Amino acid sequence: MEKVSTKQENFRDQLSTVSKEGKRNWIYPKKPFGKFYNARTIVSIILLAILFGTPFIKVHGHQFVLFDFLNRNFILFGIPFGPHDFHLFVIAMIALVVFIILFTVVFGRVFCGWVCPQTIFMEMVFRKIEYWIEGDYNSQKKLDKAPWLSQKIFKKTLKHSIFFAISFIIANFFLSYLIGIDQLLKIISDPPFQHIQGLISITIFSGVFYWVFSYFREQACTIVCPYGRLQGVLLDQDSIIIAYDYVRGEPRGKIKKNQKQEKLGDCIDCNLCVEVCPTGIDIRNGVQLECVNCTACIDACNYVMDKVNRPRGLIRYDSLNGIEKKTKFKFTPRIIGYSIVLIALLGLLGYLMSIRTDFSVNILRTAGLLYQEQPNNMISNLYDINVVNKTFKVASINLRLENLKGELEMIGKKIVLKPQEIDDGKFLIILSKDEIKTMNTPIKIGVYANNKLIQEVNTSFLGPVEEEENEH
Ligand code: SF4
Ligand code: SF4
Repeated sequence: MEKVSTKQENFRDQLSTVSKEGKRNWIYPKKPFGKFYNARTIVSIILLAILFGTPFIKVHGHQFVLFDFLNRNFILFGIPFGPHDFHLFVIAMIALVVFIILFTVVFGRVFCGWVCPQTIFMEMVFRKIEYWIEGDYNSQKKLDKAPWLSQKIFKKTLKHSIFFAISFIIANFFLSYLIGIDQLLKIISDPPFQHIQGLISITIFSGVFYWVFSYFREQACTIVCPYGRLQGVLLDQDSIIIAYDYVRGEPRGKIKKNQKQEKLGDCIDCNLCVEVCPTGIDIRNGVQLECVNCTACIDACNYVMDKVNRPRGLIRYDSLNGIEKKTKFKFTPRIIGYSIVLIALLGLLGYLMSIRTDFSVNILRTAGLLYQEQPNNMISNLYDINVVNKTFKVASINLRLENLKGELEMIGKKIVLKPQEIDDGKFLIILSKDEIKTMNTPIKIGVYANNKLIQEVNTSFLGPVEEEENEH
């Protein structure tokens, strides 16, 4: 088969982090600097503060956000959700997927560079510590090649000890979202043998985070992350990406002093944009799966452009059409289509949330049974009740017959629901024959939780009287 890739396209044949022999190419990115890097640092501090602060926020004594999969107990923004809210979960997940698609179609991988926890921890926490201990990329390369003497042993031990300590902290907070901060503090403060499972979980999570940030690194984005792999399908010519303006930059060439320059573009081929790239790619090759939109190459190139007195923005946020045809952002049919679907889903979710009640009650006359004759001219019907408690409180359920004189008698135990619990019960309604005028007597049952009316249920009572003829 004829090889189709040209020399310029050869970069697509292999990953920048994997050598031709299939070995790992360790990336030593130059320390980034500049306006975008500073802005990303501020955004990262805010997001990390939210991530580490949220488990401590409580609403009515309960964690603000909790994903307790083991006990099927979920709290979002202080609202408890349980298995009975599965339909809301499904709609929310579909809306999230549509939102991600829409966001990516319009803004490309902005999420990866500015919000993704992998990028934030890697570039804004672990990498900064690495620069602090081992110096910039050249010093790091030198240190890795150096023999294991005291200085290298000291620096490597210090770096990896701090890396593990931070991984341990991340693992603890990660767990606090799964089991709750109170349970986590209990595991930490109680004697270790009382929470062996919890401690094993923390150790495993710490080990995984340590391995990802100290060894696996950018490969999480370039090899594992499914979102990165979807870019080829989601991006189009109008998506905003971090792009090299090849129209302005090419043909590239170094500035040669005191030499007659041939007609060159603005790229002086200094390679700084490649040196700062944490995934080891050359943005000048075009859109690539490995680009996590970290903005380091924008800052680097702007710095170079300032130095050579050329306008900034040779590498910038723009679309391929923006670069090639100088077109401005426009709403494409794809964006409009996704937006309509997203708005419809959010509308549906909002409506379902607005009608969501603290309790859900179902009352049905027991199937297959008619009425029962009772002593003293009384008639009874048997009913089934099912109650879901969606609140954090224990709920003691009482039933009252609201529209007729009669008795309502629970059969067996009284219904007392723990938070997020579902329970069933049976009860009898006993009416005097004098109250029964038709075969189907409409009845209204008031359902009370802790003596507060939560719902009125309309149902019917079967009686022995023949249905009256219609008068007209
Ligand atoms: S190409 Fe630029 S934006 Fe993309 S990962 Fe590399 S440095 Fe970051
Ligand atoms: S930093 Fe700018 S000028 Fe230097 S090689 Fe990259 S694109 Fe060209």
